[in-house]
Amino acid sequence: MKKLFVLALAATAIFAQAQTFPGTKPISLAVPFAPGGPTDRVARDLAEAMRKAMGGSANFVVENVAGAGGSIGMAKVAKAAPDGHSLLVHHIGMAAVPGLYRKLTFNVATDFEYLGMINEVPMTLIGKPQLPANTYRDFENYIRANAGKLNIAHAGLGSASHLCGLMWQSRLKATEAMTTIPFGGTAPAMNALVGGQVDMMCDQTTNTTGQIEAGRVKAFAVTTAKPLSGHKLLKDYPTLNDMGMKGFDLTIWHGLYAPKGTPPAVLKQLNDALKIALKDPEFIKRQEGLGAVVVTDNRVEPANHKAFVTAETAKLKIAIDAAGKYAD
Ligand code: ASP
Repeated sequence: MKKLFVLALAATAIFAQAQTFPGTKPISLAVPFAPGGPTDRVARDLAEAMRKAMGGSANFVVENVAGAGGSIGMAKVAKAAPDGHSLLVHHIGMAAVPGLYRKLTFNVATDFEYLGMINEVPMTLIGKPQLPANTYRDFENYIRANAGKLNIAHAGLGSASHLCGLMWQSRLKATEAMTTIPFGGTAPAMNALVGGQVDMMCDQTTNTTGQIEAGRVKAFAVTTAKPLSGHKLLKDYPTLNDMGMKGFDLTIWHGLYAPKGTPPAVLKQLNDALKIALKDPEFIKRQEGLGAVVVTDNRVEPANHKAFVTAETAKLKIAIDAAGKYAD
């Protein structure tokens, strides 16, 4: 009898929370990288689309919690109050970090609620404007001729730029040819690249398209298996696959997460809003302009996204263990 009463009370509390969510308290979208970068860009566009999707009443704020390849921001959300007001926007690092960091204070599989996938974003291999090379072939020749003198920027161990750089350098068989320089995100790394303090980087098109178009950086190749023939600017760059790195195929995905224990009714409200936001023509237009593809199929279902991240985590762990290089 007492047990039933307690259950009834808990059900009433959950119902009341769903009724009042989101209330007046802002919903924080934590970005585990620096402001102004590609993950930040996705989160800011999504915040606006989700605000509209929730009838304009919800107040979304983007919070940058950079460091340790995204794991500091992940830890913050994993430990936040599970009330729907602390969410995480993250990319493939969600699946890379568990393999790279052996002493995490959180568990990617059990400390998060998975809300769904947001988009897929290709990457571009770019260099500082002062590099003499203008084509991918020249770029490779320049690297070989200057082995040991060059550096490559990334957003910390476990970031997308780190993964891409590693994959590319191992195919180039030139891991020793350059020094890696970590930043808190690829926005500060981009400043260093434009300023000529670092030589090259691999980054999401959501961050590089504008810089390439403005001529502030040089682009040499895209990381997808097929050319980006539908994009007005990026269609002109070869794939690494076509440049001799057969099978090279790297696309970055982003997803939305909440702390474990967020009430199911609140999760449903957030997932419903996410699905509407991803169909918002303005959001789609902005993302497509930056080379991203917005996901609107069943990958936005929480269970499907969780299964996908679990499979990606296992796949990346095998590659990381084989390389034997860890972040801690
Ligand atoms: N593009 C970054 C990365 O390499 C993250 C960021 O700054 O958004 O993971």
